[in-house]
Amino acid sequence: MTSDITRLSAAELAAALADGSVTSVEATQAHLDRIAAVDGDLNSFLHVSDADALATAAEVDARRAAGEDLHVLAGVPIAVKDVVVTKGMPTTAGSKILEGWIPPYDATLVERLKAAGLPILGKTNMDEFAMGSSTEHSAYGNTRNPWDLERIPGGSGGGSAAAVAAFEAPLAIGTDTGGSIRQPGAVTGTVGVKPTYGGVSRYGLIAMASSLDQAGPVTRTVADAALLHELIGGHDPRDSTSIDEPMPGLVEAARQGAAGDLSGLRVGVVKELSGEGYQAGVSARFEESLEQLRSLGAEIVEVSCPHFTYALDAYYLIMPSEASSNLAKFDGMRFGLRVEPADGPVTAERVMAATRGAGFGDEVKRRIILGTYALSAGYYDAYYGSAQKIRTLIQRDFDAAFTRADVLVSPTAPTTAFKFGEKLDDPLAMYLNDVATIPANLAGVPGMSVPNGLSDDGLPVGFQILAPAKADDRMYRVGAALEAALEKTWGAPLLTRAPELKTMTELSR
Ligand code: GLN
Repeated sequence: MTSDITRLSAAELAAALADGSVTSVEATQAHLDRIAAVDGDLNSFLHVSDADALATAAEVDARRAAGEDLHVLAGVPIAVKDVVVTKGMPTTAGSKILEGWIPPYDATLVERLKAAGLPILGKTNMDEFAMGSSTEHSAYGNTRNPWDLERIPGGSGGGSAAAVAAFEAPLAIGTDTGGSIRQPGAVTGTVGVKPTYGGVSRYGLIAMASSLDQAGPVTRTVADAALLHELIGGHDPRDSTSIDEPMPGLVEAARQGAAGDLSGLRVGVVKELSGEGYQAGVSARFEESLEQLRSLGAEIVEVSCPHFTYALDAYYLIMPSEASSNLAKFDGMRFGLRVEPADGPVTAERVMAATRGAGFGDEVKRRIILGTYALSAGYYDAYYGSAQKIRTLIQRDFDAAFTRADVLVSPTAPTTAFKFGEKLDDPLAMYLNDVATIPANLAGVPGMSVPNGLSDDGLPVGFQILAPAKADDRMYRVGAALEAALEKTWGAPLLTRAPELKTMTELSR
């Protein structure tokens, strides 16, 4: 059973734990064994916490044996992106500047995972401070895509996506500022959800851009994402942007969707998020998925969101502006790395310069410089101010589109996973990966990526579903319906076809 445990979805594992056929210690050990076997190839994890995970598992098993009423996911192990702070467990955000830092507190979402009894397997690799689309900007080496070890797993949350795709963890936490949950989901064949802004507490997330950041689930099925989203979501008084309202029923929405009836649902295809720049196989799978939704009773309408064409430009002014301010706290005095100047006086300013010079990577420096420039007195209105106006126009585009459609859809990413190094020297080419995911962050609306097949190159493709703010349940309904329909066509979930691929077979040995 041990090797099979890692192939179960979180819901299946939860059922096995509940009926006593598996213990949490067995399940946790099976995933730790899998990590030990394959993570040398993948580098999904920056830190593995064997002892803590097994201790939590043993505690949950004891509570279950004592007849306690447990959360449905109690005992199901999880991996957490290293941008989320974990008490007593190293947290680096993929940066040298935080090497060796042990947070003294837990993020709210981590508190909720712990309270529900989910053993935390460890912390996953990521682009430094979540800046990137390939995980090549991590200070701790690349994570490789389990579908092809020569290719990127997406970013910034490549570690969480690769861990879930390679059966190292049934569940993971990601964060999405411009697409870092959804784009890695698309290129690894996993499900990724960016909740409504304010839907999941940001308390304890190391901020990149506070008005855009959201944490969310990384899973292999839509139903698993719903379970995890309901657990980590909901109001938190420690995050002033947290929504103080009950969340819609996500597990129930996924259950209804899986039943396969979408009649009465209007699905809007965003004209600006397709066509030129999208790989042929990505577009082909997208069209087929639209047909699937139509065959389930959905009405497909075309909508236009004209300002989406400027989303990337606005994002790459707003995000670096906020990042430059958020990253000012890494000054060599408070957290992690401290570097004293090689010669000359040791003043606060010179320690700060030496620490930041040594501790930050090139992409982080690039964005800090861009951000401080955009916010500087002479340019504030021209750059930051204009970007904020575009942001408003994009929000209005969403408002108008949602009067004509209940959900909006597009391919999640324009291409499948690219090879290492392909876009590393060309920041603009790298930024273009998020052309379809960024509008949701600028407007605060929720987005989901569901695997919808393989492109001509044999690599996974994702289907993006967007819903109005606070209507996350709609994505779960549509995502679960599409997933069920596709699995019927394929005869199995997409990821169970991965072992046919050479690298997955090698990994499985
Ligand atoms: N790839 C985008 C960026 O580099 C988004 C990153 C993210 O969502 N964290 O900013």
